[in-house]
Amino acid sequence: MNKIAKYNCIENLKKEGNPIIIVTLVEEAEAVLNSCRELGINVTAFCDSESRKTKDKFCGLDVVHTPALKKHYPDARFIIANPNIKDCSRQLSELGYDEIYSSLEILEKYDVNKHTHKWPVPYMAQKITVAKSTHSSYFDEKKTFLRSIDIMITTKCSMNCANCCNLMQFYVDAKNTDEKIIEAVDTLSSNVDYIGEFRIIGGEPLMNKDWWKIINNILEKDSNRKILVYTNGTICPKDEHLESFKGKNVNFYITDYGKLSKNVEKMEEGLKRYGIGYMRKPADNWVDCSNVRQHKRSVARLKQVFKECCAKTYYTLLNGRLYTCPFIANAANLKALPDNKADYVDLFSEKKENLKNRIRRLVNMDAFFPACDFCDGRPNDPTTAKEYAGKGFIKAAIQAPGKLPFKEYK
Ligand code: SF4
Ligand code: SF4
Repeated sequence: MNKIAKYNCIENLKKEGNPIIIVTLVEEAEAVLNSCRELGINVTAFCDSESRKTKDKFCGLDVVHTPALKKHYPDARFIIANPNIKDCSRQLSELGYDEIYSSLEILEKYDVNKHTHKWPVPYMAQKITVAKSTHSSYFDEKKTFLRSIDIMITTKCSMNCANCCNLMQFYVDAKNTDEKIIEAVDTLSSNVDYIGEFRIIGGEPLMNKDWWKIINNILEKDSNRKILVYTNGTICPKDEHLESFKGKNVNFYITDYGKLSKNVEKMEEGLKRYGIGYMRKPADNWVDCSNVRQHKRSVARLKQVFKECCAKTYYTLLNGRLYTCPFIANAANLKALPDNKADYVDLFSEKKENLKNRIRRLVNMDAFFPACDFCDGRPNDPTTAKEYAGKGFIKAAIQAPGKLPFKEYK
């Protein structure tokens, strides 16, 4: 099939011509800009689908809201930094552009150690490796490739955010999910061609006392695996646990909720002490997507909600099942929607000979899942989304006084 985005770009982009725009403000975008400057490619601006990200300059350049690109740049050349090259290139093509390139060739020889970045070197190095693999897989349709897998090791959280998009606010009986995690990870790994990043999540993953053992077990099977631990900075990891990650591909992503993240400083000190890469980011506002309710949308509307969704490749492993996003994973786990086998792949009960195909079909879904009808939608920008039923931008991490009720399907 003809790809919208092209691989060969350096020689084209070095020539005088239409303005050059780097697509989306992902962390990797800074590396793409650095590399362009090194190669003699003159970048004009960045663009991003989230309007709130376009207010300030990024690395000294303007950031244009993607839906408004044509107004500012009727003709332009694009370099996609975002790992989700498929969605980005489709969006640009629908806007009427055709000079769209992957950043793969540009990042091919990029040396992360030779440049300064907003984020620590080990974290950037991992991001760039994953982005390069994701773009490679875009050009190789025969392979089943997961940019990342969210491994839910607990549904317990040390916070109780009323609008948690992973639906923790509904778990009355939250528990660890570690019993067969390693077996599930291995079954998944042996039935796909590549997994870019193994993201350890919850709830709050450090609520599971064995969190560090799980990580080490995942790495024991394959030390090339890349781990990213998503934490809210409320629990300080023990020194001996951090020490066990020394020299391994383990990075942390800390969401800083201000006063609520009461151990964030200590966590940061510990990570620095053991040379573990991390990113600490303030929570910002959220796009509300925390409701589970049926919308009875038409097929066309379901396709639209899925098309606009920014979470549809946040593949999630929960209790031996592979889902396409954390919303479906947790709504199904809570029984907050009717059980539908089209929404997931059960890694333990699916026939071995069918597994590869079932996973491939789930990963490459282009239309929608039945569960999407129970979701308000999760667009990058709720102000421009055509099919979205949530509250829009909301304050992050408002704490609920207790667990919230929901309709259960028996
Ligand atoms: S959003 Fe809040 S409740 Fe949900 S996992 Fe993060 S900290 Fe926990
Ligand atoms: S249920 Fe569908 S629309 Fe909602 S987050 Fe998941 S993939 Fe996106």
